[in-house]
Amino acid sequence: MTTRPRIVVLSAPSGGGKTTIAKALRDQFPDRFGFSVSATTRKARSGEKDGVDYHFWKPQEFLRGVGEGKFLEHAKYGHELYGTLRSDVEKILASGRHVLLDIEVQGAEQVRKLDPQALTIFILPSDPRVLIQRLVKRGSETPDQIQERLERATYEIGKATQFHRWIRNDDLDEAVAAIMKTIEDPEKFGREKHDISWLNSYLNQLKEALYQQKG
Ligand code: ADP
Ligand code: 5GP
Repeated sequence: MTTRPRIVVLSAPSGGGKTTIAKALRDQFPDRFGFSVSATTRKARSGEKDGVDYHFWKPQEFLRGVGEGKFLEHAKYGHELYGTLRSDVEKILASGRHVLLDIEVQGAEQVRKLDPQALTIFILPSDPRVLIQRLVKRGSETPDQIQERLERATYEIGKATQFHRWIRNDDLDEAVAAIMKTIEDPEKFGREKHDISWLNSYLNQLKEALYQQKG
């Protein structure tokens, strides 16, 4: 560990690659990263394990957790609740590792307010059509859910300017290397100057692709 452990938030529209990148970081650097397993009220996808991918909680259990202050942050996504457990985050930081949070944009905002040392990263493939293709190809959502997630993506991309860094996820190894470089170089820590015109053009292309899909 060359830098002191911190919270590293990975956010992206659905299909952007945050789960894949978080896994690659843990697999390649197990002594540097721990992953905070979130609680959610959504149902497990095929292959997902309770306690590994998520803690799959009933809504009552989740709301009790909120009342008991168990969450560092929590938010609603679609029709479901998702939250980061304080206990997980504290355990990983105490072990001297960075803690990876794979969370959506409202949660990222809460973390930024709570912890000024947290590094927040927004991930996107360079081409919005690739985002759609990857989400569709993953095959974990129904066509209606995919449509909902892509519509939400336009809102999420609008929040990208609040993040410290944008990482393009075209080649996985390059995306992982870019994240490592950012984390290991505290000199460069701080909000980068974002290319807003690129983001606007991305949003327009995504909206156009969505419109064509609907038609
Ligand atoms: P998210 O967690 O942001 O919803 P995932 O990590 O599930 O996104 O990635 C969406 C899909 O895209 C998955 O099927 C994943 O295997 C694939 N994927 C992610 N990153 C890449 C990449 N760099 N190159 C090719 N496919 C990728
Ligand atoms: P999915 O259902 O695809 O696993 O996740 C849906 C969204 O919820 C993704 O954007 C994911 O990053 C986000 N998410 C997962 N866990 C948490 C969490 O603990 N808190 C927040 N705010 N969002 C989360």
